Amino acid sequence: MKKTIRDYDLKGKKVIIRCDFNVPMKDGKIVDDNRIVMSLETIKYAINNGAKVILMSHLGRIKEESDKEKNSLREVSIRLGEYLGKEVKFVPVTRGKELEDAVNSLNDGDVLLMENTRFEDVVGKKESGNDPELGKYWASLGDVFINDAFGTAHRAHASNVGIASNLPSGIGFLVEKEVNALSVFNEPEHPFVVILGGSKVSDKIGVIKNLVTKADKILIGGGMAYTFLKAKGYNVGKSVVDLDNLSFCEEILSNYPDKIVLPIDHVVAKEFSNDSPNRVSSSLDIESDEMGLDIGKDTIELFNSVLYTAKTVFWNGPLGVYEFPKYTVGTEKILATLVTLNAKTILGGGDIVAAASNLGYKDKVTHASTGGGVTLEFMEGKELPGVVSIMNK
Ligand code: ADP
Ligand code: MG
Repeated sequence: MKKTIRDYDLKGKKVIIRCDFNVPMKDGKIVDDNRIVMSLETIKYAINNGAKVILMSHLGRIKEESDKEKNSLREVSIRLGEYLGKEVKFVPVTRGKELEDAVNSLNDGDVLLMENTRFEDVVGKKESGNDPELGKYWASLGDVFINDAFGTAHRAHASNVGIASNLPSGIGFLVEKEVNALSVFNEPEHPFVVILGGSKVSDKIGVIKNLVTKADKILIGGGMAYTFLKAKGYNVGKSVVDLDNLSFCEEILSNYPDKIVLPIDHVVAKEFSNDSPNRVSSSLDIESDEMGLDIGKDTIELFNSVLYTAKTVFWNGPLGVYEFPKYTVGTEKILATLVTLNAKTILGGGDIVAAASNLGYKDKVTHASTGGGVTLEFMEGKELPGVVSIMNK
């Protein structure tokens, strides 16, 4: 078990909290502040327990000097201050006297936000490369380190692993929730059913390889299904096919013939658009000028029949082009089934969580994981350095 923020007496301590404030920005404005909202629980806990709060986060990618302006955390400090109802002092640098003075002038319960940790990437990739001096320097600013940034937990950076290696450490409430929820998969209750969709096989190879040995069934839909169907010799027309991974799919199908469940019918159209006419086609008679954009109703029934027996379900990737209202049906119907099951149901992946949120199902599943890449790496069976580096109880 990892130590958590609750395991420390924070009163009067300088507490560094690594948050995930990597919010989408457009023209210098925050487009979606969900990540800020989600960080509040840990920050408020630290404030209420009398900590001197030092917040750090990355925002976007910083390759050169010119990337800095549009990826400043200043706007985040303002929005966060509004949510907290108190001033969040913004420090526009990532090292030096201005930062040190700001830290030293904090009173108990005060909050400061340091500028984007990735500003340190411009010269020598110090943040992303986990430069040991940088981790040590940032650690020297605080007494306790709390990692509450789940989105970067699969990377060893100076602002997570680097600081954790130099200070007493714990995880925040967000990371704790994620780690607890995902720990279900260490020993899943069976039948364990995995639903995989999305567009590309290539993004999901690691997940398929790991889960095919652990799951009882893998239901494959979305664009990914067409590479598998083509590997079986079907004509999939203009559907998305990942030719580079055709032989990978052949191999999985021949090694695990009873585990992989593929769609038997599809909603197909001649154009990739919401408006072009469509029809339902079985897997056997997709025409050469047609593409599959959603699973059909027989497939929905087939997937449901497998899901009804499940005790644990992991779902990544939507089952159709859910951005088009016409091709949301498969994803929506399976979500509707999912929330009625007497099972642990976990969604992982940016698009499937967005789809569930849009359709009103996000709060009805056991857990919707906020990490995109990190959740997938966990499901690939990889360790998460941002969590591993935190002290054990
Ligand atoms: P997640 O973010 O949940 O991991 P992905 O990013 O892998 O999911 O995939 C999401 C994308 O897959 C969506 O943009 C969706 O339009 C696309 N997609 C789903 N089904 C199809 C399909 N039949 N053809 C093409 N793209 C598809
Ligand atoms: Mg995605």
